Amino acid sequence: MTRTKLPEHGRPREEVLARMRQMRGDDARWKEGRTWSLVYWAGEEHHALLRDAYTEFMSENGLSPLAFPSLKRFENEVLAMSAAMLHGDTAAGTLTSGGSESILMAVKAAREWARKERGIAAPEMVVPLSVHPAFMKAAHYFGVKPVVVGLGADYRADVSQVERAIGASTALVVGSAPAYPHGMVDPIPELAALAASRGVLCHVDACLGGFLLPFAEKLGHEVPPFDFRVEGVTSISADLHKYGFAAKGASAVLYRTRELRRHQFFTYAEWPGGMYVSPSMTGTRPGGAIAAAWAALQHLGVDGYLALARGILETSRRLREGIAAVDGLRLLGSPRFSIFAFGSETLDVYALGDAMEARGWKLDRQQLPPALHLMVTPAHAGAVEPFLEDLRECAGALARGEPAPEGSAAMYGMLGAIPERQVIDGFLLDFLDGVLDPDA
Ligand SMILES: *Cc1c(COP(=O)(O)O)cnc(C)c1O
Repeated sequence: MTRTKLPEHGRPREEVLARMRQMRGDDARWKEGRTWSLVYWAGEEHHALLRDAYTEFMSENGLSPLAFPSLKRFENEVLAMSAAMLHGDTAAGTLTSGGSESILMAVKAAREWARKERGIAAPEMVVPLSVHPAFMKAAHYFGVKPVVVGLGADYRADVSQVERAIGASTALVVGSAPAYPHGMVDPIPELAALAASRGVLCHVDACLGGFLLPFAEKLGHEVPPFDFRVEGVTSISADLHKYGFAAKGASAVLYRTRELRRHQFFTYAEWPGGMYVSPSMTGTRPGGAIAAAWAALQHLGVDGYLALARGILETSRRLREGIAAVDGLRLLGSPRFSIFAFGSETLDVYALGDAMEARGWKLDRQQLPPALHLMVTPAHAGAVEPFLEDLRECAGALARGEPAPEGSAAMYGMLGAIPERQVIDGFLLDFLDGVLDPDA
């Protein structure tokens, strides 16, 4: 065991930076469009703007709006622009560090609202199976009971199951626009109407779609209603650091009214250190992320986002058509935007994932059913043909019975065969413990 020690003598700047660049040698090569998740890339010119905006405000702290009126203004203007895009004329929100924090806050606000306005002591929320794990994290952190309901054959939330799951303790009904696993937009008008008729809140997780669907609509795509135009939708999360093309660490959570938003806030007046107010989970709020979000919106503008959306949607269409045409592969559901998954009845898609990985393509593995997953960004425009060519070859080789290169398929197969959840959770805990290894 050789734990890294704080160096006795500081190292020169150039040496530090050179070592860091060397360490990233094995990182995902997302600029080449070979990684199908995690990074949203709008090109070098945009990246340079984000970097400059971020570093200008890197040391400022959004915790104190009084000390930094600039950050306060950036935040309010980003929220105003985001709310307008989602047709929330009276909507108010806060910036957060990302989609998960936005979701945590929406669930926390719903819990407080249910306790105070409805007198529900132990609030529950109804979530379709496809919602992001951040909702389960929120349930775990805040003691809200999640009632998970299944999907229809179209991979969208099953409205009749949601209806049956709403009870006297329900505070919140959730839908996604779109959901991450299959890229399907839930039937938001039906979910929101149900919620409204039962007097409960309705959150739309538009972390992915928030900065893409409004522009898809303007481009003439058929976009299912999902935003504040839908009556009964009471809050929306939309990630600036995804299709908003801001720097990492920026998302918006918006409520239909300022009254609802108050349930998110935290105040503490008894601290010797002073009166304390905090809008969201974090204390210190990185000024760089707020500044870069403002810079992204200002620099891109409607025409910039339209151009990006046009490219993303076109690339996505070519990929979906190409994948559907490969023997043995089929898309799950009928995704129409930039995120989708494909499975197979005849091929082991995990083995296919390994074969593609050996050719440098990093695809997320999914389960229930097994599938491979793509999230499309402008970085993928030039990757369509090489990707499809490799996919056809790899799928063909598997179909002929040729073994795939060794990868994670065996592990996924093993995990998939374990019926007990606790065993898998234990395995996942071990995994995290191993990754975060101070002795490595
Ligand atoms: C990414 C994502 C989230 C979580 O966002 P983070 O920024 O990763 O915390 C939530 N919901 C959906 C649909 C997402 O795609």
